[in-house]
Amino acid sequence: MRKQIAAANWKMNKTLSEGEQLLKGILSGMGDVKDHQQVVFAIPFPYLLKSNETIGAKKNTFVAAQNCHHKTSGAYTGEVSVDMLESICIKYCIVGHSERREYFSENNSMLAEKVNLCLSKSIVPIFCCGEPLNIREAGIQNEFVEKQLQESLFHLDAEAIQQVVIAYEPIWAIGTGKTASSDQAQDMHQHIRAVLAQQFGKDIAANVSILYGGSVKGSNAKEIFSQPDVDGGLVGGASLVADEFLQIIQSLK
Ligand code: PEP
Repeated sequence: MRKQIAAANWKMNKTLSEGEQLLKGILSGMGDVKDHQQVVFAIPFPYLLKSNETIGAKKNTFVAAQNCHHKTSGAYTGEVSVDMLESICIKYCIVGHSERREYFSENNSMLAEKVNLCLSKSIVPIFCCGEPLNIREAGIQNEFVEKQLQESLFHLDAEAIQQVVIAYEPIWAIGTGKTASSDQAQDMHQHIRAVLAQQFGKDIAANVSILYGGSVKGSNAKEIFSQPDVDGGLVGGASLVADEFLQIIQSLK
């Protein structure tokens, strides 16, 4: 079975002590996940090292960076490189979250560079894609997402694409409380898998985990995750509340 993943995105929230309390609360409540399941915490840069220690050797549980720079090193004040992430044993990195695309002008070609750098250090990129509301209303969301995949992922070979996790996050559903219906999520996930199959082959596409993100909560996770092409979720707001995120972990297939 493909990896099923519950990924928390804390964004710019929590102090060190608040974060530690949240993380410990979730770790102590979650028990052991199944072999094909993973739990990932994308937390702010200053706490990555400490949180990695807190998680220790807990089965299939990892911290992620929320971003990395698209160059290897140099005069980029305030930025964090994949070498730095590798040096503190980070295994996952979110790439191309819609907030980064919107507020920091990240574009598809820059994200292709980030994906390459992550893979070169065996860091799994959680590559985010998804359409804004006007594109959904115009009914051209499939084409929009396909272009994001083409321009950031289609240069990869069959081996590399299987190391990538894709997160479909319709922008109109992020932080709005407006979740895509499970049918809307499944339709897009099926489309993404079909597009991957066309480019890389059906067997390869079947191995790529595709997460849904956009107002996932404890109460709706099970229905969304039960869709055949939905392999878990990337969760913002609800990942900041231990009981909510625990319910989301328990909703993984
Ligand atoms: C996100 O930021 O990736 C996200 C999906 O946020 P929320 O769950 O709050 O909609």
